[in-house]
Amino acid sequence: MKHSRALLGITLGGVLFVALLFVGHTALAYTAFLVGFLFFCLTTRISLNWQILLGGTLGALFGLVPESQVASVQIVGKLFIAMLKMLIAPMILLAITHAIAQMSTARDLGRLGGLTVLLYLGTMALAIATGLVLVNIFEPGAGSTLRETTFFQEAAAAERPELAQGLSLQDFLLQTVYQILANPFESLTQGRILPIVVFAILLGIALLQIGPSARAVVDILGSGYKAVMRIIGWFIRLAPLGIFALIGHLVASVPFQNLVKYLGEFVLVVIVGILIHAFITLPLVARFLGGVGPAQLFRGIREALLVAFSTSSSAATLPITTRCVEENLKVPPRVSSFVLPLGATVNMDGTALYEAVAALFVAALYGIELGVGAQLVIFLVAMVTAIGAPGIPSAGMVTMVVVLESVGLPVEAVGLLITIDRFLDTFRTMANVEGDAVVSVCVTRLAR
Ligand code: ASP
Repeated sequence: MKHSRALLGITLGGVLFVALLFVGHTALAYTAFLVGFLFFCLTTRISLNWQILLGGTLGALFGLVPESQVASVQIVGKLFIAMLKMLIAPMILLAITHAIAQMSTARDLGRLGGLTVLLYLGTMALAIATGLVLVNIFEPGAGSTLRETTFFQEAAAAERPELAQGLSLQDFLLQTVYQILANPFESLTQGRILPIVVFAILLGIALLQIGPSARAVVDILGSGYKAVMRIIGWFIRLAPLGIFALIGHLVASVPFQNLVKYLGEFVLVVIVGILIHAFITLPLVARFLGGVGPAQLFRGIREALLVAFSTSSSAATLPITTRCVEENLKVPPRVSSFVLPLGATVNMDGTALYEAVAALFVAALYGIELGVGAQLVIFLVAMVTAIGAPGIPSAGMVTMVVVLESVGLPVEAVGLLITIDRFLDTFRTMANVEGDAVVSVCVTRLAR
């Protein structure tokens, strides 16, 4: 019955779509397509996983169509991100506070927390090392005349003023600490994640210390968290449509010509590095420390990876990541609700790798030789700034300035990197989210 309704929907939608295109109402035709696709997703028996993949594929094809920048599609993409973002702040506060408060002893917390931080630092270090090895082998930007091209001059001149104010590592750390110490209600309303995470950890520890008399509050937090997860379950039904719109917009707006012509080598090194990390390093970690094989891992988190790719935000992807690891990889909520919200802001394998590669690329572009010492500084600063970067689109671009400053490289090169940031951010974010999921799997096994 449901199948025939879906078929009927496709047929009617298809006819309407073609008819509208034929009479020249392009925008209306795509709106009709969106409605039809939504109807299909809500009525078909095909699994959500496949619907999401279908949405992504159709979106990529759609992005190649010349009139793909129609308003209705862009609105759908924005609405989907808004829906996910609506849940981030309450989810992080409830998840982390409850996860800590319901632990039996402070020793439990110490073990879980210690393991999580250790694995986060370890996987990020592996990512940066991969990036540095690749840059030293392939030397993107070496001997290039890109700096003399008008493309470079224009890009550097168009650098955004807020990025131009060089930020030293010291200023960056100080700024981060000030941000963390903000009024928690203000952070909640403004959706600033790092301060919420810190406040949630403190609140959780306080409740844990208070013990039995705080039980009622802990139970309320637990029920609240369950309710948020329920809402996520509703929203995720719309993911295929949201991903269609976001990927369509992405493909339509990426400057493919610049990617290939000017920045080809650099883009290639970043992507190869991220792919090595995502398809070799992290799966090996998941296999040996988490007891989860690569096939199971990727099948379990593919929805989250696609959402990460299309939203470029690990924070926005958090609800989906949580659902994926809990349902498909059997990570208990006790672990996922602590490890993932923390990871969404702290653990950024892809970002750290990118920043290290980009710094060396910029150096090569300017013909500046960076020795082992400087590379070591880049290693550390890339790690610190990736930890401090929020899980939002292009966050890595802002912290890039700090990395460049730290070894005295010209900051205006950020102007050049910005031109392709939207594209590389998709890959970075995917690796960031995968890293969080892998660590949650490992912590589950190791903390048993
Ligand atoms: N967009 C990335 C994330 O949300 C951060 C970045 O590298 O810009 O994980």
